[in-house]
Amino acid sequence: MITYEEFKSRADAVRAQIAAACARAGRDPAEVELLAVTKTHAAAAAEFAARYGLRAVGENRVQEGVEKRAQCAAPIAWELIGHLQSNKAKLAAAHFDRVQSVDSEKLLNQLDRAAGELGKTLPVLLQINAGHDPAKFGAEPADAPRLLDAALAKPHLRVDGLMTIAPLADDPAVAARTFAHLREIRDRLAAQTGAPLRELSMGMSGDLDAAIAAGSTLVRVGTALFGER
Ligand SMILES: *Cc1c(COP(=O)(O)O)cnc(C)c1O
Repeated sequence: MITYEEFKSRADAVRAQIAAACARAGRDPAEVELLAVTKTHAAAAAEFAARYGLRAVGENRVQEGVEKRAQCAAPIAWELIGHLQSNKAKLAAAHFDRVQSVDSEKLLNQLDRAAGELGKTLPVLLQINAGHDPAKFGAEPADAPRLLDAALAKPHLRVDGLMTIAPLADDPAVAARTFAHLREIRDRLAAQTGAPLRELSMGMSGDLDAAIAAGSTLVRVGTALFGER
């Protein structure tokens, strides 16, 4: 595990990179949030993120996030960014502040029921496989309208926007295309439903510039902040 000083200098560099990408895209850097992805790292990683002033951390496995949150004294929000199996929906609804990886009606039903039982409203993002990557989870773009309609009808869920993961590719144009596609899907769905869908969670350590150019509001960064996993 790196020291806080090292984390701080890495986080300053990522912030500068975000600011530069925003300047190139004519965007206000305040529109792009940095989500620290702490998966595989110790609970101290979340404490670093909190001390630096970040709002939230991202974890990709339910159990790991639940355990780390219990060990972490710092006030910070926890978001689930990895695939969620429906048998863990209840646990996820109880222990995460937002679930970014909602990609089926079955999961919507389970999260809504669990949130209702907990007496809370659970914020969610719909994960869309905007790069048509067979190796990635996420709803197919063609199914997004139906998934959104179902999500908007859930009394205990609040749909903040969409999330995607670009396919792994040597050609940076693949990520750029994927992000532009998610943006188009969001713009179309927002116009059709009237739901603002403000959040576009896209971009990681290796492709955050392209994501910001396409309109990302939330970059999910692990390696650039904490080093290789
Ligand atoms: C691990 C992970 C990230 C962070 O990836 P880095 O390349 O380490 O920045 C972002 N999003 C998701 C869904 C992840 O699982």
